Amino acid sequence: MHIPFNKPYITGGEFGYIANAIASGKISGNGKYTQMCQEYLEQRYGFQKALLTASCTDALEMCALLLDIQPGDEVIVPSFTFVSSALAFVRQGAKIVFADSHKDHPGVDEQQLEVLVTPRTKAIVVIHYAGNACDMEKVMQVAQKHNLFVVEDAAQAVESYYIDSAGNKAALGTIGHLSAFSFHETKNIQCGEGGLLAINDPQFISRAEIIWEKGTNRAAFFRGEIDKYGWIDTGSSFLPSEITAAFLWAQLEAIESIQARRLLHWNTYFAMLENWAQRERVGLPTLPAHATHNAHMFYLVCPSLGYRSALLQHLKENGIHAVFHYQSLHNSLFYARKHDGRNLPHSNRFSDCLVRLPLFYELSEEQLAYVISCVCQFNYA
Ligand SMILES: *Cc1c(COP(=O)(O)O)cnc(C)c1O
Repeated sequence: MHIPFNKPYITGGEFGYIANAIASGKISGNGKYTQMCQEYLEQRYGFQKALLTASCTDALEMCALLLDIQPGDEVIVPSFTFVSSALAFVRQGAKIVFADSHKDHPGVDEQQLEVLVTPRTKAIVVIHYAGNACDMEKVMQVAQKHNLFVVEDAAQAVESYYIDSAGNKAALGTIGHLSAFSFHETKNIQCGEGGLLAINDPQFISRAEIIWEKGTNRAAFFRGEIDKYGWIDTGSSFLPSEITAAFLWAQLEAIESIQARRLLHWNTYFAMLENWAQRERVGLPTLPAHATHNAHMFYLVCPSLGYRSALLQHLKENGIHAVFHYQSLHNSLFYARKHDGRNLPHSNRFSDCLVRLPLFYELSEEQLAYVISCVCQFNYA
């Protein structure tokens, strides 16, 4: 048996919508499908404004432009994340102040954020790792106190919620001033390459549309609000084509069934691996009381790097492609020299010890049972 780590799910509806977009003659960006996706996402989650982008990386770059990040500004970013969470701000000249993970999970340790704030700090970026919410009340408190902006890197967080201390539920990506989602083929809802900028602070809406359209006021022109359009600001070509949006529309239509099936897989992993994990002293995903999860990822935290290498090798020999995840960004070739030298032990531990198991829509019950039995056979002497 060979079981891949991921297989992008195609609902079948993509072909018809793409054909329809082509037949309409409008295949560049910001057409019918783009608007349908944006309105759907605004309504389902409650963003003030949603703009489709070509990637989550693009949405994060838009955040850096909208926040007017300048050379010398500091941005607090977790070290255990994908490159783009930091890169978008580095491109504007920011100094990245890396934050450590929580001791119990790979998400940022919210209690440690405030000590990283200096008079130069402009923004805090948080990542909802595996779709598990950070403690957004705590993050927003620190931000308000020091007059900072909060960007949620919600790349993995579609269909996940934060529960505040009063018991209210808010979709991830609706709490920070700005948020970025990914529809890369490795994410729950995907269109190959794609993303979304979600805007919750209305002061950014009109400028975001301009930055999205190469620094022009073309979006307002197409709505008939102005009689000619021109170059009025910085920006880039951040919008995806209608082909991409048509693909994404088919995925959004299937969001409930995609999520239901992924959650079933995730719950099976958790229930069936609990005893083995306890015996082996392997960590399973821990969910704080303020977080829901979206079955984006099922991860294990091994007791050591040696354990992890042996487990990955054992799974590989049995045809199972399990993978590790991020290497701490503060140790990266690109940024280590610029890092201020602080040790970030929890981020490093998750870099060394975390394993992700295959989790995708089309994983069959038989395949899932096989992965579970191979994991449960493993013990590390
Ligand atoms: C996937 C991912 C990204 C990048 O998304 P793209 O759409 O590929 O640009 C950024 N941040 C996190 C946390 C991710 O998981």
